[in-house]
Amino acid sequence: MEKSTIVIHGGRPKRVTGAPLNYPIGATSTFVAGGSAIYSRFGTDVTRGLEDVVSDLEGGETLSFASGLAGVKAVIDTYARVMGRGIDVAIVEGAYNGTRMQLNSAKGIGVRSITTIPADSPGAFCSGLRSLEGVDLVWLETPTNPLMAVLPIAEAVVIAKGKGALVVVDNTFATPIATNPIEFGADVVIHSATKYFGGHSDVLGGTASFSDPALVKEVDLYRRLNGSILGDFEAFLILRGIRTLSLRVRAACENASSLIGLLGEYLGSESVHHPSLLVGASGYEFLPRQMLLYGSMLSFDLGPNPFVAERFCERLRLAINSTSLGAVETQVERREKQEVGISPGLIRVSVGIEAQRDLLDDFRQALDLL
Ligand code: PLP
Repeated sequence: MEKSTIVIHGGRPKRVTGAPLNYPIGATSTFVAGGSAIYSRFGTDVTRGLEDVVSDLEGGETLSFASGLAGVKAVIDTYARVMGRGIDVAIVEGAYNGTRMQLNSAKGIGVRSITTIPADSPGAFCSGLRSLEGVDLVWLETPTNPLMAVLPIAEAVVIAKGKGALVVVDNTFATPIATNPIEFGADVVIHSATKYFGGHSDVLGGTASFSDPALVKEVDLYRRLNGSILGDFEAFLILRGIRTLSLRVRAACENASSLIGLLGEYLGSESVHHPSLLVGASGYEFLPRQMLLYGSMLSFDLGPNPFVAERFCERLRLAINSTSLGAVETQVERREKQEVGISPGLIRVSVGIEAQRDLLDDFRQALDLL
């Protein structure tokens, strides 16, 4: 089935006479003994509905978590436990700063070493990965944040597997509508469901999808013991959001592509960062195969003065100055506020699904005032 059909029909109750179309939110922590439902910390109909549809989209078995970062932690901690020793982790430069902080906080208690692999180009990334002596876990995020570098998943998997490493891909920015990392050999796919899955800036959640059923079991045990499963209400909201994922992502990508044109006119295309601008460049032959859509995350640089960029963000009337992404509304953020080593004038945009003309008018009036 097409993804646009999976998002509509996946994760629903069995279609029998009188059945509800959606799993009702179960306001209960426990169940009368003897049935398949036991206790809500182990999973409910709604969390399983959400997990089923994400499994269908990503092609692996899925677990849901209270946030994206809770899923990240469950995978890192569980893999270290399975390995029975401190693990050596390689993480791509430009991976979500919360993931990097998470790894740092596990240093000495599960994580033995952390190496950052450069994301300047696919070639630089692959040779960085190749040069590693020992690595147990490769953490990939593509496109990267906030410079939108795109790294070749299939090639990274071949190199990582040659070293016996597990490959995790955070697919939050790309979304499963554009990219399925498991198809390219990844072992685990992470989503901050807070973002495109939920799609309305009104819920926190996360998912992890696994190609290896043995690892799912271990991570499920971790989740039960740590109580990090997603709540029923949140699962309901995210499942509701997923119904329009395909439509929203496609509309946002179209808006992004027009906005890139406008920003290029004002600032020059070298100041704008988006995967579509890499198509055809040497080393990016894999890109059209890896990304069926080029995404609605972009960034652009207004130069060394942070106040110019801050003022720009404040002058926008539709786009909202806020630190998240993947929602119906366009969001902007001067990214140096969240990450060290970023150009002070770099603004990240999560393009929403407003009418294209209104969105372009909004950016045009702010660009005119620069
Ligand atoms: N992964 C990426 C790429 C993110 O951008 C974020 C949050 O911004 C996370 C993971 C963490 O997700 P959450 O905020 O749902 O914990």
